[in-house]
Amino acid sequence: MVTHALDWLDAVAQEREAAGLRRVLTPRSAHGELLDLASNDYLGLATDPRVVSAGVEALRTWGAGATGSRLVTGTTELHAELEAALASFAGTESALVFSSGYAANLAVVTALCPAGSLVVSDSANHASLIDACRLARGRVQVVPHNDLAAFETALAQRTERRAVVVTESVDSIDGDGAPLARLHEICRRQGAVLVVDEAHGFGIVGPGGRGALAEAGLAGQDDVIVTVTLSKALGSQGGAVLGPRRVIGHLIGSARTMIFDTGLAPAAAGAALAALRVLEQEPALGRAAIRVAGALAAAAGVRAPHSAIVPVLIGDPGEAVAAARRCAVLGLRVGCFRPPSVPEGTSRLRLTARANLSRNHLLHACDVLRVVLGRTDNHAIDSRDEDS
Ligand code: PMP
Repeated sequence: MVTHALDWLDAVAQEREAAGLRRVLTPRSAHGELLDLASNDYLGLATDPRVVSAGVEALRTWGAGATGSRLVTGTTELHAELEAALASFAGTESALVFSSGYAANLAVVTALCPAGSLVVSDSANHASLIDACRLARGRVQVVPHNDLAAFETALAQRTERRAVVVTESVDSIDGDGAPLARLHEICRRQGAVLVVDEAHGFGIVGPGGRGALAEAGLAGQDDVIVTVTLSKALGSQGGAVLGPRRVIGHLIGSARTMIFDTGLAPAAAGAALAALRVLEQEPALGRAAIRVAGALAAAAGVRAPHSAIVPVLIGDPGEAVAAARRCAVLGLRVGCFRPPSVPEGTSRLRLTARANLSRNHLLHACDVLRVVLGRTDNHAIDSRDEDS
């Protein structure tokens, strides 16, 4: 019997459906009818008038697209200005902007882990870091989440001379922080480079939102490389690698996601630069997001995070989807994470705080969370949140 070459996709779709893992795209309306606790717009800067008008101005000045690879026509003065501002903010020698945080991660890991080197990767790392390891020509060793002894053993027992350790500063799903100071000590002892993805730390944690590395006193260290996204706290789009000048020079010469990708769109660069300026002027924004996250965590009956991410473990994917739907019916958009985004049996809601959530919106969100999650015992919202 001749079947269509794509029929197997229907079987896969049915399996997904049966396992409660069907995924659909739900377009947001421009009128924002649901209260957002799902986006990564942690500081509310995606719609900030200063950020939006800087994006529009960049669009008018430089056009809709970057017009080419960074090495050809895709580097404008605006890109250079953004890179200088990012490096100065994070306290690193240099910075290089990419079209996404995903591309920035692929660039660093592949460029620093050629054949004959070792990359030690935390088991909870984001898909972009996992893919980066898959593309790297060096040997990859995955170690349990934040297991310092395992990191040290992997490095100490290696036969390769060069090694890189890759981790996230703030876990994208759990919102927990990596033991960066101790990890850096291990890297120093073992002669390894530390690569830290600050996608969820940058703009939120550390002094003035300068990130978890700055909080750990590691900003600007000559054996630490940082990747950030411009699409979360900065409310724009794009990514960047921040680190020593010679690393950035090496990336410009060899990183395939820079050489073969069109440069970041000027509007995104302009918006990200304006958002960075806002952050410099309003250094408490990140703390405000963490405070809102604390209030949401209390309502959901889970421990307060040291980030803007509040995970609420449900377990079963179908139940997680049902809880997210109940939230939506009551006006709240929350994230719902199921395998393969999270391990089997750990499906969860992922609530993200926003620094600019009004008090009324926060009260409403907390009420909904108590109702949906059946934690009706806790009616008090901490008075610290009055200014949020
Ligand atoms: N790293 C982490 C930890 C992330 O959560 C994300 C985005 N979800 C990325 C990298 C990728 O960033 P971008 O969305 O800018 O590609």
